Amino acid sequence: MDIRKLVEEGRTEEIERQLMDLDSEFRFKCRKCGKCCKHQNTILFNSRDIFNIARKLQMTPEEVINEYAETYIGSASKIPVVHMVPRGKNEVCPFLKDGLCSIHDCKPTVCALFPLGRVVINAETLESGLSDSPVKAKYMLVDTNCGSCKRVNTVRDWLARFGIPEEDEFFLLWSRLTAMLHGMIRELEEHHVSNETLNLFWSAIFSTLYLDYDTSAEFLPQFRQAAEKLSSLCQGVAEVGTLFPVGETN
Ligand code: SF4
Ligand code: SF4
Repeated sequence: MDIRKLVEEGRTEEIERQLMDLDSEFRFKCRKCGKCCKHQNTILFNSRDIFNIARKLQMTPEEVINEYAETYIGSASKIPVVHMVPRGKNEVCPFLKDGLCSIHDCKPTVCALFPLGRVVINAETLESGLSDSPVKAKYMLVDTNCGSCKRVNTVRDWLARFGIPEEDEFFLLWSRLTAMLHGMIRELEEHHVSNETLNLFWSAIFSTLYLDYDTSAEFLPQFRQAAEKLSSLCQGVAEVGTLFPVGETN
């Protein structure tokens, strides 16, 4: 099943039927063929991925992004997205060394979860703020065409393999925050603010979301602070939104 296609086509009922909880079972056994690390051009990093890789490689988050990724404004999310840049004509992941993942213990969440994907439900409430509205993580099998069906796993066991918390505060906060930021940029666009203004917002979002971390300290408290800062920015925009000059050239 191709989640992206279902989302793009708005087939929400079909998506809901496929959603899995922590105790849901699925059949999958990795054959360790390494194919998913080649011809691979779809890996997005979240803030925690970049932080963990930076810490492991003793680099700064900015150095990791400069070395292994590219950043652009997501056409759907409307906020800065950090995308892994594969290498060579075979589009090999830069972390694949001698057929093995060289950052296995801190590989990006999308790699660690595969063949599962993760979504939040109650997405319509996400833009309303960082707290209060209940959101919950759900899981689904993504399109695999690989591995074997020889092993029965539960979602819970699968998360434990890579130490992904069952109640993943980071993921829920990340989902709320990125939805809020999406709403903020949409509002700015509706007010036709200039590209220069949008670039200032995007720059602030990018730095706060991905770069401004001390890798010798714990990630989550720093991410909570980043989320508060960006949430205040969103609230500020919501409060002064009507003061933006409508019709400013873009
Ligand atoms: S990060 Fe590791 S698991 Fe993910 S694509 Fe690269 S080499 Fe493969
Ligand atoms: S996840 Fe699939 S493609 Fe990747 S190594 Fe395992 S079997 Fe191969």
